[in-house]
Amino acid sequence: MLQTDRPDVGQTLRESGLPAELTAFIAGEFTSRGDGTMFDVEDPATGAVIARFEETSTPGVAAAVESAHEAFRLWAGLAPAERGRRLHVVAEALRAHAGLLARLESIDSGKPLAQATADISVSVRYFEYYAGLADKIQGQTIPQPPGTFAYTVREPFGVVAHITPWNAPLSQLTRGVAPCLAAGNAVVVKPSELTPLTSLYTARLLTEAGLPPGLCNVVLGQGGSTGAALTAHEQVRHITFTGSVAAGRAVGAVAAQRIVGVNLELGGKSPTIVCADADLDKAARAGALAVVRNSGQSCFATTRLLVDRVVAAPFVEKLAERMAGLSLGHGLDDPDVGPLISAPQLDRVRAYLGAAHDDGAEVVIGGEVLDGAGHFVSPTLLRGVTNQMRVAREEIFGPVQSVLEFDDLDEAVQIANDTEYGLSAGVFTGNVTTAHRVAARLQAGQIQVNRYTGAGVEVPFGGYKSSGLGREKGTEVMVHYTQVKSIIVDVA
Ligand code: NAD
Repeated sequence: MLQTDRPDVGQTLRESGLPAELTAFIAGEFTSRGDGTMFDVEDPATGAVIARFEETSTPGVAAAVESAHEAFRLWAGLAPAERGRRLHVVAEALRAHAGLLARLESIDSGKPLAQATADISVSVRYFEYYAGLADKIQGQTIPQPPGTFAYTVREPFGVVAHITPWNAPLSQLTRGVAPCLAAGNAVVVKPSELTPLTSLYTARLLTEAGLPPGLCNVVLGQGGSTGAALTAHEQVRHITFTGSVAAGRAVGAVAAQRIVGVNLELGGKSPTIVCADADLDKAARAGALAVVRNSGQSCFATTRLLVDRVVAAPFVEKLAERMAGLSLGHGLDDPDVGPLISAPQLDRVRAYLGAAHDDGAEVVIGGEVLDGAGHFVSPTLLRGVTNQMRVAREEIFGPVQSVLEFDDLDEAVQIANDTEYGLSAGVFTGNVTTAHRVAARLQAGQIQVNRYTGAGVEVPFGGYKSSGLGREKGTEVMVHYTQVKSIIVDVA
């Protein structure tokens, strides 16, 4: 089933016009300093090396930040409405390149083409939405005693660093970069070392669409080297980090030391409560989607299904039926489920499958790691899981779904909240009062009722507890990409 030699991969890479040896994109140009280690980029479905990149050294990172700072002076000086107009042009450019971007994303991250296409549509929406917000970032007038007039303005920070993960490279980039630019900042992006392609393509597209060169730069490399050089740079005045809790802690510590703002968008172990009066078909569809989307490599995937014991048997049957028929394959063939991102990620999921076995969980379907050069795990459904098992406590980031059973709603809510994470949670019930009561008690930044899928770009997103700090999306994010200046005037 798995191929190692695919002409459509080569064709997509040629069509992208990206250099054969990828380098940082600084001040509107691909820039090699010749001082960085070379790294391979692989197609996770075949293990084939599809590109190489030069890691951006610390002086290269400094050049990127300086170029962003230069562009910031120009950009922040434009009328907000003009910034909005230019970001609308970017949205249209992304839309015009959506087909190629989706194929590039699919090759780089392994995600099925339809899912990659959906991610690119979301990326267009981020630019569209924040283009419209650019001239609506308002301050306040503050009531004062007679003779005094006070007002606030919201100003950009200057250069903002965006560090992104591999599971949704372009939608994570645009989620942070679009509002950041709308507020008048300039950016330096460090994509995951595993998936640099669409970030580079998009940075070039932004320049071609008329944004000032240097407004959006991309540096390449590992977190501990290039990423650390970026977060440490004195001209970086805010950091947006999306990734694991462990790396988020390290980035947060740097931000605290430097006294700069930080958004942390981290992992999850999101529960969904399935009540006895729920539409079980709908709930099973949501449970299957959690392993289908990005092969379960999704931060908000609901991977703890807490099911009322009374309906557990029919629910598991329905979910198993949905998961049993899922196809696996290369992203460009648009299967239901693509590969995991890398060999280490495959090993991680394999270890969790072993832990589930050792802890006494029952494998309903799946549980196999496929032979071959790609990184495939069959969609796996576990039942008889308890909340003390490792598969219930830790983020697996693979196509592994767990069913836990409960006897009453108090117990369900207690299990749901018994986690270090709090990114997202769900409830399926036929009773609207139960829905609101449970939503109020769940400790998570986003609660989904009788659905569980990505919410629109308009809806704030971010974690409670170890799942993060700050909110992305919606108008809420502008709190993070602007700083408030109070101006007090004696008018007596
Ligand atoms: P990761 O933490 O390993 O890496 C994320 C990014 O941080 C990469 O670009 C990496 O190079 C960089 N990095 C790592 N250490 C760094 C450091 N010390 N300084 C600066 N940069 C550093 O995460 P990953 O494996 O790429 O992504 C998977 C994780 O991301 C999962 O935990 C997932 O839940 C999370 N995630 C969260 C969201 C969200 O919105 N909450 C979205 C997507 C993914």
